[in-house]
Amino acid sequence: MKKLRVKTSREQELIDITPQVERAVRELGLTEGACLLYVPHTTAGIAINENADPAVKEDILDALVRLVPKSLDYKHLEGNAHAHIQSSLLGHSVLVPVEGGKLQLGTWQGVLFGEFDGPRERTVWVIPLESPSGAAQTRE
Ligand code: ZN
Repeated sequence: MKKLRVKTSREQELIDITPQVERAVRELGLTEGACLLYVPHTTAGIAINENADPAVKEDILDALVRLVPKSLDYKHLEGNAHAHIQSSLLGHSVLVPVEGGKLQLGTWQGVLFGEFDGPRERTVWVIPLESPSGAAQTRE
């Protein structure tokens, strides 16, 4: 496993971490299988979505902010209930197939890290799941 550091610079933002994940997969020597990306935080999350047009990231973040306003009558007294809910909506893990040592993302896809209570120094766990040898020859 590798632990990526993600330094966020705003209270709420979506950051493309695809290059860091690709580097981690190379360094781990993962060639065939999948890569589990896990965010061990309660006010940050991770998702796969469009990375080609940066407006999509902004729209996703805007929608989460509108869906879960900061100033509702929450019971959680820490003042960041909205961030807990927003990160739950985004999710805390994604699984990406790996083939030939490369992430098998779709043409427009990227790995997006979601900060909802920043800025902070965050961590993303990159957990390699290597296919058992010979799996490629298995037939249905
Ligand atoms: Zn809290």
